[in-house]
Formats: sequence, C-alpha cells, structure tokens
Amino acid sequence: MIALDDFVRTAHIAYFTMEIALRPEIHTYSGGLGVLAGDTARTCADLDLPVAFVTLISRAGYLRQTIDAEGRQVEHPDPWRPEDWVTPLGAMVMLEIEGRAVWVRAWLYNQHNGTDFQVPVILLDTDVPENDPRDREITHYLYGGEQSYRLKQEMVLGIGGTRILRALGFDIHTFHMNEGHSAFLSLELLRNYELVSRKGITGEIAYDVGRVRNMCIFTTHTPVHAGFDRFPYAMVEEILGASYFALDQLKLLAGDDSLNMTRLALNLSGYVNGVAKRHAETSRNMFPGYRVHAITNGVHAPTWVSPSFARLYDKYVPDWRHEPELLIWADKAPDREVWEAHQTSKRALIAEIEKASGVKMDPEIPLLGFARRMTGYKRADLMFQDLERLQRIYQKHPFQLVLAGKAHPRDGSGKKIIEDIHQHLHWLSDKIPVAYLPNYDTDVAAFLVSGCDVWLNTPLPPLEASGTSGMKAAINGLLNLSVLDGWWYEACIEGTTGWAIGDGSEDTSHDQDSADLYEKLEKVVLPLYYGDRDRWIWMMKQTVSKIGSYYNSHRMMRRYAADAYIR
Ligand SMILES: *Cc1c(COP(=O)(O)O)cnc(C)c1O
Repeated sequence: MIALDDFVRTAHIAYFTMEIALRPEIHTYSGGLGVLAGDTARTCADLDLPVAFVTLISRAGYLRQTIDAEGRQVEHPDPWRPEDWVTPLGAMVMLEIEGRAVWVRAWLYNQHNGTDFQVPVILLDTDVPENDPRDREITHYLYGGEQSYRLKQEMVLGIGGTRILRALGFDIHTFHMNEGHSAFLSLELLRNYELVSRKGITGEIAYDVGRVRNMCIFTTHTPVHAGFDRFPYAMVEEILGASYFALDQLKLLAGDDSLNMTRLALNLSGYVNGVAKRHAETSRNMFPGYRVHAITNGVHAPTWVSPSFARLYDKYVPDWRHEPELLIWADKAPDREVWEAHQTSKRALIAEIEKASGVKMDPEIPLLGFARRMTGYKRADLMFQDLERLQRIYQKHPFQLVLAGKAHPRDGSGKKIIEDIHQHLHWLSDKIPVAYLPNYDTDVAAFLVSGCDVWLNTPLPPLEASGTSGMKAAINGLLNLSVLDGWWYEACIEGTTGWAIGDGSEDTSHDQDSADLYEKLEKVVLPLYYGDRDRWIWMMKQTVSKIGSYYNSHRMMRRYAADAYIR
C-alpha cells in the first residue's frame, strides 16, 4: 500500500469528475461519463501517469433498476459502503454555501492494476457531524435533487476539491475538467491568483486570467446548448454568495443571463477538446471564436476485453494490455480461434440472459444488442417502428435481440421509452427471442459488449458526442451497426469494420433511419452471418485490428499527455 505522501510528491495533474466508475461495488457513476473517467484512472495507473482524481463520494449512489409487470422502471436506492473500499484522509476544508460553513472531508481510493504504479482517487464527503443536517446530504445522491442541490454539489466538487488538494499538500499545475460540472475550480484558482499590483484606485480586483487558463483543460461532452448546466444568478447569489466572486465579473466569464458552467470552463481553459472529431466540429459551431481540439474517447482494453479474447490476445499480441495499439496485429489469430473465443463470450451472455429474464437464446443464431441510457435522442424505439417488418425479417433470417438501459428518475420521456419498449417486446416475445436485462451497469455491460454479435446504436445526429459502448464491442470482435454520429462517424468503414445506418445528416427522420436499419439487417447483415461466415470473421478481425488498436484509452491518455498536459 502506497502512502498518500508518494502521490502528493508526484501528482501535479488533477482530473475532476462528477462521476467515476471505479469498480462495480462503488456506485459513484451513472453512465458513459463515469465509465470514461474510470477507464481514464485505470489507464493512468497502467501508464505511470501521475494524475490525482477528484470526485464526490455519492454514498447513496445513482439508482438500482428493476422492471415491474407493466414494463415500467422501478427505482431503488443504490447505496454503497465507503468504509469497505476507501480510507479516510485527515484533511478537512471549509467552504461557504448559502451563508453556512460547510466542511468537506476526503477519502482515498487507490487505483492500481496489479502494476507497481497507482493513482489516487479522492472522494469528497460533506456527511460530517460539524455540518448542518441539510448540508450533510450534499454529496449523497449522484445527479439527484433540485437545481439548487446540483449547484451545491458542483461547488463542493470544484471549490472543495481544489481546497482539499491544497490541504493535502498537492502542488497541482494542471486541472482537467471532465465536463462542465467542476468548472468552479477555475473560479477558485482565479481567487488564488489575484493580481494584487493591479488593484486599481477603484478597489476592483484584477485576476490573473492568463495564468489560470494555462492551468486548465476542459473536455466538453455536450453537443447541445440545452444540455449545459445553468444556474440563475439569483440562485447563485443566494448559494454561492456575492462575496465569493464579484457578480459583474462572473457574468463576463459565465454568461449574462445565467451562470453557464460550460461557458465558464471554456473561458478559463487554455486547452478545450471535444470527445470525437465530429463532436469537436459541432462544438466549434456552437462556440464561435473558441479553439476546440478533438481527442476521441477510448476504452480501457484490459477492463473490457472478455476473458476468452484476453487469452487469444495474450497468445497472438502478448503486450496488448500495456500497448493496445498492438491489437493492430490481432488479425494474425486464426479464424477458428477467433470464432471459438467469440462463441465462449456469447454463451456466457446467453447464460446471463436466461438467469436474469428466463429467456433461452441460441448460440448459433445472431444476437443483436442495444444498451444505452434510455433517453429521447438515443432513439431506442427506432428498431420497433414496424414490428411486422421485424417479424418478416426474422422469418427469412432468424435473429435474437437483447436490450438494457436505465432512465434518469426525472426523465419522464426516457421512462416512457422503457415502458413502450416492453410493450413491443411483449408483442414480439412469442415470435422472436427478445430480452431486456434490468439494471444496466458495468457488470451487465461487460457481458453485453462481448457476447452479442452485432452492436446497435441509433442516436439522432449530432447528439451522440462520442459513445463508447461500441468501442467496447469492437475490441471484442462485435460488429457495429450504427448511425454515423459520434465516434462511429470516423471509425465506420462500410462492410469492413461494421455498417452505417443513414448518412449521418442532421435532418434525417425517424422513419428514414428505421427503414435503413431494417434494410441493412435484412439485405446485408443477417445474410452475411448465415451465408459467408469467413467474411464475417474477416470483419471481426478487421474491427479488432482497426478499431481496437486506436479507440482505446491508452491512445487517448497519450494524446492528453502530449497535447493537453504538456503545453
Ligand atoms: C460504456 C457504458 C456506457 C456508455 O455507453 P454509450 O455507448 O456511450 O452509450 C454507459 N453505461 C455503462 C454501464 C457502460 O458500461
């Protein structure tokens, strides 16, 4: 066990994130953003990248999902026990929220992957006896509560997190914001770097904006203005307080009408990036005048490669865990062994499906998978536009379908999608083998992204900033059948790494895309599975060598290190 002292000396980069998927038992994540942060931490440990991670403790977790007899999502609390996984640190810091002193303490999680190197994850916690009962809950519920609750959480993350790093003795030179939630850290840094010499006759404070911008990196994940966190200034005055930062100056940085966390982060970061090439392009159009780079996301190969494929890669590309770029040679593996490795993962998923839903599936029939946060723009209903067509396709070329996904408790339309899907599945159930796995989390994801044959994704362009589940699928030899958005826009080579649905244009329609999905399934994908197995396996190998070798988090972090951390 390495003491914090070692981290304190070596880590000069801090990565702030609202959520992080460290391990299945630690419920500090809800979806893609948290999984990306977790993959980032695992990769830093692999690569000896000295980064300290900062997040909230989220004791109450996000939600555990079951589905009731009517096909509706039922939300259960999903707490975890910090005492079992993390160790308390001595430091406490204070910040003022709604005029009250709020104390923040920290816990330490050591991220290590069996290598000598480890990275610290610092989890912030306001549940201490010193605090007013209202404030003890600030760090409990991930994405829970009202807008004002969210503002308090973001203050604890950005301001409390920066103060705790300092209290623990860290000397951080580079602050990386994973999405806008932590943007208050940049204000806190500005407060630390007042230009005393320029305090003019007006008494107005001048801040060293240039210095702070040199220290900050912002990764944006949201391709629509409506998705940004915004807080009305009346609320900001009440909760953050007018004395923390002069309101007129704050408005210059964070927007006139409301405090926009994305704008704040943009204005105070010297390096800004989107999470795929297309997303960076969209972001440039949204924020004219800002330079937005592209660092496409990647997934942590050792985490997401199934045991059977790990054995295959160990045999044919032995150093793939440290250098997943080597997967470019994975097509050396003989077809028969690739297929065997795949069927092993598929049988494991089929066993899980039967355990969770009672539905029996057949390893010889192609299995299509779709697992996503259930929300409007992901268009999970696209494949159910014409159930009779689906049935006719099945009669020509049998297939099976498995889905999973949670809706945010306040996303009424997302919950409605889950309910509608269950009605469709009910209608289909005596015609096509179909199943919905409850409680999509990283455990369920690991089975799905290795055990299906085809991975579906149907977002409405340009709303999928990147998407990462398709990368996890590809690294296990699954073939993607997806709308040309996010990462797939750059990774799809039709008929080689997978297939496109539609042409990626923004003015596409539901009907058009679902018709295209049915066409591809009926005329291209399923006939290939049954008619030309050699070609199918060739595509699996192309997918692993072209996508696995690039869309991994080792490549991503080497890019962050070279382009963003060292400037
Ligand atoms: C990978 C992952 C996601 C993100 O997948 P997308 O393709 O970006 O939707 C979400 N949830 C879980 C549990 C995951 O493992």
